[in-house]
Amino acid sequence: MADTITAPTFAPTIAPAEAPVESPSRPISDDGDHDRFAHYARKDDVTRSYVTGEAIVALCGKKWTPTRDPKGYPICPTCKERKEAGWKI
Ligand SMILES: [Zn+2]
Repeated sequence: MADTITAPTFAPTIAPAEAPVESPSRPISDDGDHDRFAHYARKDDVTRSYVTGEAIVALCGKKWTPTRDPKGYPICPTCKERKEAGWKI
């Protein structure tokens, strides 16, 4: 028969419930949160939008006005995914 190894039994350690929880780095809000992303859009549209202030449609389907410098913003995950999948706007 197989050897029986008797491991020492440890008393189970139960972590305290008040373990520190990492707080989200940015507040989640319904309004404007997605604007913190840089979206892919047609260059012509972006240029036009800068001039006219018109909202344009991004690759992810989001309609927004790219007024801010997209540098420093993370790329919208949906836009990125779709671009990698070969989507074209
Ligand atoms: Zn997007």
